[in-house]
Amino acid sequence: MYADIIIDITHEKLDKVFQYSIPSRLEGMLEVGTEVVVPFGRGNKETHGYVIAFSEKTDYDPAKIKEITGKAEESMAIEGKLVALAAWMKEHYGGTMIQALKTVLPVKKKEKIRQKRTVHLLLDEEAGKRQLDIYLHKNQKARARLLAGLLDQPVQEYELLTKKLNVTGTVIRTLEEQKILTVEYEDMLRNPVDYQKKTGKQIVYTEEQERAIRTFVQDYQAGKRKTYLLYGITGSGKTEVYMEMIEQIVKMGKQAIVLIPEIALTYQTVMRFYGRFGDRVSILNSRLSPGERFDQLERIRRGKVDVMIGPRSALFTPFSDLGLIVIDEEQESAYKSEQVPRYHARETAVARATMEGASVVLGSATPSVDAYFKAKQGEYTLLELTRRAKGQNLASVYTVDMREELKKGNRSIISDRLKELIEDRLQKHQQIMLFLNRRGYAGFVSCRSCGYVVKCPHCDVSLSAHRGGKLVCHYCGYETKQMNRCPECGSGYIGGFKAGTQQIEELIKRMFPQAGVLRMDLDTTKSKDGHEKILAAFANHEADILIGTQMIVKGHDFPEVTLVGVLAADLSLYSNDYQSAERTFQLLTQAAGRAGRGSAGGEVVIQTYSPEHYSIQRAAAQDYDGFYEEEINYRSLMGYPPVHQLLAVWMSGSEEEHLKKAAGYLKEFTERLNRQKKLAIIGPTAPFIEKVNDRYRQLIYIKSEEYKFLIEAKDLMEQYIEMNSGFRSLRIQFDFNPMST
Ligand code: ADP
Ligand code: ZN
Ligand code: ZN
Repeated sequence: MYADIIIDITHEKLDKVFQYSIPSRLEGMLEVGTEVVVPFGRGNKETHGYVIAFSEKTDYDPAKIKEITGKAEESMAIEGKLVALAAWMKEHYGGTMIQALKTVLPVKKKEKIRQKRTVHLLLDEEAGKRQLDIYLHKNQKARARLLAGLLDQPVQEYELLTKKLNVTGTVIRTLEEQKILTVEYEDMLRNPVDYQKKTGKQIVYTEEQERAIRTFVQDYQAGKRKTYLLYGITGSGKTEVYMEMIEQIVKMGKQAIVLIPEIALTYQTVMRFYGRFGDRVSILNSRLSPGERFDQLERIRRGKVDVMIGPRSALFTPFSDLGLIVIDEEQESAYKSEQVPRYHARETAVARATMEGASVVLGSATPSVDAYFKAKQGEYTLLELTRRAKGQNLASVYTVDMREELKKGNRSIISDRLKELIEDRLQKHQQIMLFLNRRGYAGFVSCRSCGYVVKCPHCDVSLSAHRGGKLVCHYCGYETKQMNRCPECGSGYIGGFKAGTQQIEELIKRMFPQAGVLRMDLDTTKSKDGHEKILAAFANHEADILIGTQMIVKGHDFPEVTLVGVLAADLSLYSNDYQSAERTFQLLTQAAGRAGRGSAGGEVVIQTYSPEHYSIQRAAAQDYDGFYEEEINYRSLMGYPPVHQLLAVWMSGSEEEHLKKAAGYLKEFTERLNRQKKLAIIGPTAPFIEKVNDRYRQLIYIKSEEYKFLIEAKDLMEQYIEMNSGFRSLRIQFDFNPMST
């Protein structure tokens, strides 16, 4: 028997299977996914690797095949099913197999399991008293003390007992040898949330919830495994629906994974799952220690967990009989990994579910264009919740045209309308959130007088201001000079948008000196609990106004907030990528969802220089379907995902000239591949951030109608890169259907 092994060294040249023979002492001890130690390379250096398959025969000379040295005892094995998933990820997203294997392995090293020891008295009362007399008679005081204590209370915790009675471990061992007592050991696997009370289901489902649950359960019982898109407005009761679906599959002896964006993985959410499933719930997040993470995997291995909640990486929870994967807020960009392999949790979840016979439920109040497209195509099954479960109303939304403000002579970043409403709310002692939309902000240039934004004539995305007064298209490399007069209206108010949250905080404090103001952005949340502290202070009404970036619009419930102001809604709209309208729509919709969560109702003011843009108009009207129709037309027209497929090839190197030349060669190579014109190749071009850590960057985009053509192109490019030494000093990464954050 031979084992196919992937060596634990990340290098394109070593990205292949190496065969080793299995010595008889290891027979039956290795499985797919086991980490082993093998001699490797010319010097036969001890190197680690993972078994990914076994074979009876080999194509090499059996006499020359080396032998596996042994098992890596300290390591966790990768579940066989996840090895298959890793292979799928490598195939779909590029990178090496070892990178893919490490991605699906949640904990690499074994940790020590803590143990609880208890001491049990083995004698009955009569025999115990007789023995006690013997000890007293022989003046064996420590033994007598211990036995007397146990006669009082025959089962006691070891540590407490030794302390309370002042006896040593030696004394306990002596009595154990004399068969007077026994010590029992029990593994203490920590549960990261210290809460076990089960409250069960406490609500009556709405008709819409019933229908969604019924569809899922009937399909499931009929053996149909599908991907569902649960499209339900905020507060429509999606979480309750997930929990019921999970309960149903748990009853069938299966397990569920629930993915939640890390930022929304709050105590409140987790508590709802604990209330329903008790301590058969586990969480994985970045705050757990290695020991706590290991304990969770051990609990899973011992069948003590039915539901795992966590961010993207929890997708790789090694359940033995996975029945359902839920992805809440599926539109979040956090589900796309920025490390090789650059996988998307949504696609990867569907792949895993298909391999293991599970279903997938994607939930969202504003589905990603990608998921909604697939639902319309029939690839996903659509389930809808159109009403709020508790019947609250949605907030009223107004847009303010900031160009008009400038005409009236108001040059401030706060419109008159918003100012009046803030004053009103302060008087009523209600709370206000001001949201500065800086997401995806990439230095676009616009006119504050007429709203004109400088865009690429070829790609219909905004140009980014680069060093030296250049405006550059991030997709095709088109360049033009920065202008100082607006080409549309001739005004001089053309330039980049400069205000940050700190300037806004200062301005607000000057305008409303009586108000208490909190600010939440990367700066103020650097400390460990910075985030929670600010949110808790605001929730306690320690401040009237909360100013922040997109961090403040995600999922937090503040019933006393009755006004939300969105400053410069356009900032994300003119970021330089094809998803900017989608992201803007989502942020505005989420921001609107923050107002009026309580009984008082709420208002939202969206300040914009482009009130005519469809993503702003549709967000103001809270019209998702209308937005989707316009957006999908744009994607289709311009050849962007999800209608077409897009592959970004990122290249970086420390020498600019060399990098540019290599990028040119790689592009020429792809053009030669493209005789049948299945690909559209764009670039190479410098991305918005041209240099990171002293490495220059170049990008090539490839568009195609079908994903499989992009995979073919990627495979051939990988071969070409490996064969040509000119690429050796460069870092090259593939990014399928990239998402910017
Ligand atoms: P979503 O996940 O769609 O935002 P949730 O499941 O969090 O919605 O529900 C919002 C609120 O409504 C929660 O407090 C939840 O307990 C409550 N809720 C959900 N469904 C019902 C129902 N059928 N009856 C009463 N309350 C409900
Ligand atoms: Zn203008
Ligand atoms: Zn362009």
